[in-house]
Amino acid sequence: MMRRVCLQFCLSILLSINIFYPSSALRASGCSKEPCLDDQSHFNKTAIYRLVDLPSNMADAEQVLKTVLVEAKNRKIPVSIAGARHSMGGQSLAPGGLVINMLPLHRMKFDSASATLHVEAGALWSEVIPYLNGLGASVKIMQSNNPFTVGGTLSVNAHGWVHGQPPIAATVQSLRLMNANGQILQCSRTENPELFSLVLGGYGLFGVILDADLVTVPNTDYQLNHVVLKAEDYANQFAIKAKREPPVALAFGRLNVQPGKKTFLKEAILYLFREVNGPHDPAKLRSRSLDKAARILFRATVGSSAAKKIRWSGEKWLSKKMEGRLFNRNDLLNQGIEVFANKSKYSTDILNEYFVPQSQLETFLEAARDIIPRYDGNLLNVTIRDLMPDNDSFLKYADQQMFSLVMLFNVKLIEAEDDRMKAMTRELIDAALKVGGRYYLPYRLHATKEQFAKAYPQSSKFFELKLKYDSGQIFRNYFWNTYGSVQ
Ligand SMILES: Cc1cc2nc3c(=O)[nH]c(=O)nc-3n(C[C@H](O)[C@H](O)[C@H](O)COP(=O)(O)OP(=O)(O)OC[C@H]3O[C@@H](n4cnc5c(N)ncnc54)[C@H](O)[C@@H]3O)c2cc1C
Repeated sequence: MMRRVCLQFCLSILLSINIFYPSSALRASGCSKEPCLDDQSHFNKTAIYRLVDLPSNMADAEQVLKTVLVEAKNRKIPVSIAGARHSMGGQSLAPGGLVINMLPLHRMKFDSASATLHVEAGALWSEVIPYLNGLGASVKIMQSNNPFTVGGTLSVNAHGWVHGQPPIAATVQSLRLMNANGQILQCSRTENPELFSLVLGGYGLFGVILDADLVTVPNTDYQLNHVVLKAEDYANQFAIKAKREPPVALAFGRLNVQPGKKTFLKEAILYLFREVNGPHDPAKLRSRSLDKAARILFRATVGSSAAKKIRWSGEKWLSKKMEGRLFNRNDLLNQGIEVFANKSKYSTDILNEYFVPQSQLETFLEAARDIIPRYDGNLLNVTIRDLMPDNDSFLKYADQQMFSLVMLFNVKLIEAEDDRMKAMTRELIDAALKVGGRYYLPYRLHATKEQFAKAYPQSSKFFELKLKYDSGQIFRNYFWNTYGSVQ
């Protein structure tokens, strides 16, 4: 019993991959006229025209959507689509717009013969994983946490820490889309293939994803191997260790964030979860009762270098203790974020993410070691994941084998702080561009238009096609307003 409790506590800590996280408490941004909505940045409080909660029945929801699209056309107001609104740059919001709340649409059905999940777009991974768990199946590719909708995930073409896989678009067999005219189109690699590639990673600009068919994999157990290493050796060691048998199914690295020339982004822990033979225990998903203690430990690092030091030493100690232990895939994927919430009224936690060719990791890190301290960036966490090239989405970020660096910063909820982050982010984007990489789009829209165009050279064609499929510009949000409407 004691052993199980310890294991659960350790898992909470180990998997705090992206889970420092802002709560929905009152934040700094203002909104002149109700109704107002914000997203997880808490910098985007926006006066909207109306929030449309879809009915939970698909047939009724389709009717409501058609009516909303006619209303939007007649009144000349934008429509934006909201999943769980965890994006951080207003990608789910348009000022003065009709905002579609997809959450009520969350039914799902598993076809065991083809191992395919048919799922409505408002379903959260925290609903999908327990459902699949009961059927011995698991999600093939998703984010490292579970509070996101399927529709939002497909619309940013998310990725996580499954090893040797492209982003999620690769697991989508087909989807149904309601376009700006209210028509429902089946999209796949053979039906409306251009639209299919645009919608995956399309940030809600081409229509409303109603549901999708996703490839799944069997749920299974993995054994943890870890290695502590110099960050400069990460790429080489990763290449060697990930090739070794048994095969690696999930992998991530974490970097030391303790300030100081000798410590900051200098050391890494590489975690590899390897496939194991033998029967898997289809046990219940683990209890979250110890997450509270893990939360206290993690939040302590926000304002304190000493706590960052303790956490890093603690993590190295823990990883040793966990070496060789078995973990269940669904348990590893079913990680919430609320337990680690930033409950302060005065600060928020903001994610940044950069993709770099694997051989360029150390060059990028060298630049980051200089840039982040110069801006006093309060970096709480960095994880490294690997990605294979994406052959499915139009606005792709993984155009070759990449490492992604997911960085979480604590930021005071004042505009001056957001501006400071903007300047820092722009330097980090330049550093990524310089090594042939780019940045991820669901976070703050801090990139300049030039940086965006450089990072996503296909973007002008992407926006041209947006106007082909939605000539009335019905679907709009801050992402379109910032980068698209000026093309
Ligand atoms: C703590 C945290 C951890 C994260 N970890 C990861 C990670 O590991 N990997 C990763 O890739 N990303 C990660 N992200 C980013 C996350 O994947 C995106 O923000 C994702 O969009 C969140 O899903 P959502 O349901 O909140 O979407 P929303 O934020 O609601 O929407 C995102 C975009 O999708 C569009 N959209 C939503 N639903 C639909 C629909 N049904 N039809 C058409 N368009 C739609 C919206 O209009 C918007 O443009 C993380 C974010 C946070 C806050």
